[in-house]
Amino acid sequence: LPVIAIVGRPNVGKSALVNRILGRREAVVEDTPGVTRDRVTYKAEWLGRRFSVVDTGGWEPDAKGIDRSVAMQSEVAIELADVILFVVDATVGATSTDEHVVRMLRKTSKPVFLVANKVDDARHEPEAAALWNLGLGEPHPVSAIHGRGVADLLDAVLEKTPDVSAVAKHEIGGPRRVAILGRPNVGKSSLLNKAAGEERVVVNDLAGTTRDPVDEIVELGDKLWRFVDTAGIRRRVHMAQGADFYASLRTSAALEKAEVAVVVLDVTQPISEQDVRIIDLVLESGRALVLAFNKWDMLDTPEMENQDRRRYLEREIEQDLAHVAWAPRVNISAKTGRRLDKLVPALEQALDSWDQRIPTGKFNAFVTELVAEHPHPLRGGKQPRILFGTQAGTRPPTFVLFTTGFLDPGYRRFVQRRLRELYGFEGTPIVINMRVRE
Ligand code: GDP
Repeated sequence: LPVIAIVGRPNVGKSALVNRILGRREAVVEDTPGVTRDRVTYKAEWLGRRFSVVDTGGWEPDAKGIDRSVAMQSEVAIELADVILFVVDATVGATSTDEHVVRMLRKTSKPVFLVANKVDDARHEPEAAALWNLGLGEPHPVSAIHGRGVADLLDAVLEKTPDVSAVAKHEIGGPRRVAILGRPNVGKSSLLNKAAGEERVVVNDLAGTTRDPVDEIVELGDKLWRFVDTAGIRRRVHMAQGADFYASLRTSAALEKAEVAVVVLDVTQPISEQDVRIIDLVLESGRALVLAFNKWDMLDTPEMENQDRRRYLEREIEQDLAHVAWAPRVNISAKTGRRLDKLVPALEQALDSWDQRIPTGKFNAFVTELVAEHPHPLRGGKQPRILFGTQAGTRPPTFVLFTTGFLDPGYRRFVQRRLRELYGFEGTPIVINMRVRE
């Protein structure tokens, strides 16, 4: 999906605008200032066009941090979005923070829309018009709270929005798109450097590829791969506050462009909440998943503490990563390059599963057998029956079950488990939807 990013300083109404675009109030929860929010990407639709909205407003800095925070938002948006909405509070006018961002936005070749928010009625229109002088073109007056002007804005924005994300479009049939994810210091840039190695390909020489400075084409296992958003990996951003938020912003945006994610974990460190959060973002995005356990060179020594760590690691994987037991795991050392060749078969496996389709006849035979062998438990004297099922889509495999009642989550998990037992789906999430016919 094409990505539309919303940037602007705190309190200009970014969240209100996101809510308005999504058409549902509860989508963006009100957070206490300074508290980070994991979820930054939302699926939206306007007049039949589907797109992703990236809300950069999840982290509200203190007064001192505002300039840097807004600069970071804009930087991520400029790199990763297809279209940028820059929101200014028309009742306040442009502040020095705004002007700084404006300078960045003027330089990008991506479409930028200047949104003059809080124009609640016609009396405020002149304030919006005053924003012409920012040099970002026509200000679009809206009231995110009341909805005024938002339809016109979306019409204008979608006219300039590509149907598929720019990266995706140029790469249909081209190298598959991989996102390297993980918390800081797990070895993402080491992995990228080792993988890219001497075999670096000049992107310009490749037919059908556009030069996108945030991506890198890498030859691995006789194949080309497009590693997306590598700029974010190569550049080390040091931020005292908000670093987690901007990391998750990047993670979500990179996932939009990727087909498969390699989540890198550091085997010398306990698996952390942050690791699990990143994996959950991958699951939510529906992308294929490979887990790369890095720094194995550190545990391959006979010292007692390393032997202990190996045992703990096994236990942590069982406990914290049970919900992604289907993801291929590779034990690597980005530093020495050891077992790095194992990454390619894992990526191929995950992508094959992601693309896998089960014919309707076979799937229904599976469902019939499953129901006969293990019927849904009775609920309130009734038993929900599965009438028919079909695979509605791939990437990730998505199934629809037509039923006579709501299936318990436990039963849906059981269906998933059996599907995996029978068909593998190694490396991909599976989605099971229900259509209940009463
Ligand atoms: P990033 O923040 O995830 O990109 O992590 P870096 O690639 O910058 O790596 C962080 C630190 O871990 C650096 O000091 C690397 O040299 C080190 N490192 C990365 N991979 C390995 C590895 O496989 N083995 C060892 N021993 N150190 C590693």
